Amino acid sequence: MIQVGVNGYGTIGKRVADAVAAQPDMELAGVAKTRPNFEAEAAVRKGYPLYAAIPEKSDRFHEAGVDLAGEVDDLVVRSDVVVDTTPSGIGAENRELYERYDTPAIFQGGEDADVADTSFVSRANYDDARADDVDYVRVVSCNTTGLSRLFAPLREAYGVEKARVTLVRRGGDPGQTSRGPINDILPDPVEIPSHHGPDVTTIFPDLSIDTLGVKVPATLMHLHSVNVTLESEPTAADVRELLADESRLFLVPEEAGIDGTGKLKEFAQDTGRPRGDLWENCIWESSVSMEGSDLYLFQSIHQESDVIPENVDAIRALLDRAPKADSVATTDETLGVGLESLFQGRRRRVVPREADD
Ligand code: NAD
Repeated sequence: MIQVGVNGYGTIGKRVADAVAAQPDMELAGVAKTRPNFEAEAAVRKGYPLYAAIPEKSDRFHEAGVDLAGEVDDLVVRSDVVVDTTPSGIGAENRELYERYDTPAIFQGGEDADVADTSFVSRANYDDARADDVDYVRVVSCNTTGLSRLFAPLREAYGVEKARVTLVRRGGDPGQTSRGPINDILPDPVEIPSHHGPDVTTIFPDLSIDTLGVKVPATLMHLHSVNVTLESEPTAADVRELLADESRLFLVPEEAGIDGTGKLKEFAQDTGRPRGDLWENCIWESSVSMEGSDLYLFQSIHQESDVIPENVDAIRALLDRAPKADSVATTDETLGVGLESLFQGRRRRVVPREADD
């Protein structure tokens, strides 16, 4: 069993911890937290060993009556791999801690690409993380993950001449009160292209891509307006079929009556998804259109959860415990990734899948 430590138990960390705990080949060694807040309480309720992320502040846990299993150094020592899910910039500072104990680590998209030996999206470059000289991996941001999952099959099937994407970005996560209240629409960043395109080239170095960012007062999901000039001219039906075959892409059927991110989240909750999470890119099927060799579509990305399957796969890739197809299948099966609607006649499976489905 792979012993996995999670350092930083917030939006991404608590989801990674639950996903790790669900894997047949992994054991959650514990989670490190800075303070005894409601999320620490949730970790205790789930029976996760809790470690003090900042040893000088461990008294706060004792004062709150929360038992600690130790300090973050203890967690790093007992882990085969640490998933660092601390806020942007802290991961880079933590790298020295992982190096000290020779523990491989996985960082998140808020870190610069040079924090790790390679950036990672399962569908695009799983095998890069299996290389002998790779000890540190960066799972790219929610937006880059979503774009890379889309571009991977398009590149393979048709070739991509040029991608242009406008990212309509949520202003903050639902729990991020520090980002609000807000009532505005911001070009963000105002410089063009935005940093998202260069980040996608950490996965596909030869991809020609320009991105523009807009920030809106919403918390539920991002929305990408995508235009890709392909090297061939498939029909829109061909593209839909191609995308429908990808387990981490969900084509939202018109008949479902899902006209926005609010209803997408309702759909996820109605289907029993934990926290209403949507691990898949949600592509509006009727938006998939071709004009000559230009593909257009809208997709929504659930920023809090699309990177979770990638973190699980990154653990197996980094430790070279499974080939890509096996890891992706196990991750998808255990989490129930592969959202499909009853309205899509030929895609009959109902979500979420049972483990023994
Ligand atoms: P978050 O603020 O929700 O959670 C981070 C947690 O780490 C908090 O509980 C915080 O108290 C804790 N922490 C702070 N300093 C720490 C330290 N020194 N040691 C251990 N823990 C510490 O942040 P998040 O949204 O989960 O983001 C984590 C990373 O994931 C960032 O790199 C972010 O860019 C990336 N990411 C976030 C999203 C998203 O939309 N939330 C999506 C994809 C990737």
